[in-house]
Amino acid sequence: MALTGLQIQKLLPGTNCKECGSNTCLAFAMKLAGKKADIKECPYAADEAKQVLGLANEPPVKTIAFGPDKKIAAGGELVLYRHDKTFVNRTVIAVNVNDTDTPEKIEATLHAIKEYVLERVGESLTVEMVAVTQLGADHKAFASLAEKARHITGRPLILRSSSLEAIREASQRIAGSNSIICTPAAESVENLLPLAVELGHTLAVSAPDLDTLAGKASTLREAGVSSFLLHFETHSNSEQLQTNSIARRSAIKDNFKPLGFPFLHFIDTGNPMDDTTAAVTEITKYGSICVLPGFDPAQLSPLLTLRLNIFTDPQKPIQVEPKVYAVGEPAPDSAVFVTTNFSLTFFIVSGEIENSGISAWLVVPECEGMSVLTAWAAGKFSAGSIAKFIKETNLEEKITSRRIVIPGYVAQISGELEDSLPGWKVLVGPEEAADLEGFIKSYVAV
Ligand code: SF4
Repeated sequence: MALTGLQIQKLLPGTNCKECGSNTCLAFAMKLAGKKADIKECPYAADEAKQVLGLANEPPVKTIAFGPDKKIAAGGELVLYRHDKTFVNRTVIAVNVNDTDTPEKIEATLHAIKEYVLERVGESLTVEMVAVTQLGADHKAFASLAEKARHITGRPLILRSSSLEAIREASQRIAGSNSIICTPAAESVENLLPLAVELGHTLAVSAPDLDTLAGKASTLREAGVSSFLLHFETHSNSEQLQTNSIARRSAIKDNFKPLGFPFLHFIDTGNPMDDTTAAVTEITKYGSICVLPGFDPAQLSPLLTLRLNIFTDPQKPIQVEPKVYAVGEPAPDSAVFVTTNFSLTFFIVSGEIENSGISAWLVVPECEGMSVLTAWAAGKFSAGSIAKFIKETNLEEKITSRRIVIPGYVAQISGELEDSLPGWKVLVGPEEAADLEGFIKSYVAV
């Protein structure tokens, strides 16, 4: 729970010595409350003040990172709704393999996970983790499969078994991968926690209902364990949605610490459509790590695209680097187009140019990630700014073409742009990118 300036002031020495750069302790406290200063700047702050402020600054949902380089993160969330601020860490997508699957299926799934990349608005989206589930009785085979999954995919794993022995052996084989250990065994915490800590893995605490889950989490916190996952054991999509929502609301609105941990969920309804529905629920409503039952690109593609949309920061438009892009293999006399650096606009326009079968230069000036009309209204996509960008990039020295196509929505700047770019002819393109192909065939590729 965030502290007010007055609450923080009571924790400070109150000598107004100014060594922190503020005139008074109260002024420094107000900066701390606004997250514009660090308690370390006060050399006289007591350890208790540092501890209280440190706890107050922790996100309501704990951030936990996975993988040897800890680049995959879950949790860290601050708000219930994206428009309140932003969501911090995307739902991690994992794909499951069972030890009872045929060797051919296991091999194909692991290689498919390793190679799968979905390109969306300049981002490469992948399957981030692999779950390895023990359904058979051979512990050694399960441990070997874990080792193989780690070796082939390079991903951190989620080990799932009801056997403590099997989990123990498998987790040792993948030591250093910062993976996850998950077992419904009642005695898992006391038996596996020391091993998980020693090997650098994270334990997922399982329970069949929310009260039991909160109780187990409280016990762990009281024992000084600050990093674990919550695993609610259910096959009901509605129960999962309800549990995720109650837990997230309790953590964020009521500052209920035992439920302030990332949620792990395994999906396996037996029906691809229901699996997809459950995964959509996880992505849209507070799932931290979502394990799909198998590798299916037809399922992954829409899920990863949905996730990208849910977890974009509403305060930061997605944008591409301002520069002159080569679409296809343009020659010096190829056509020149201009659009803004809003990612969606850029990829649609460049895609439509490519679809028309020509190569071209695409001029993309800095527009702070705004779309064409918004950028124009904000003065970021004017004749002057486009001409200035073309000069700065020395485009005229690299190409011989002097025809530039502007978006139809800013037809009004065509005259001024011709005045600003002596020797150039400005063509007004269509308003919608979908009409570019026809426009190119009629006016550009002639
Ligand atoms: S350095 Fe500490 S004691 Fe001195 S004014 Fe700043 S907050 Fe107060």
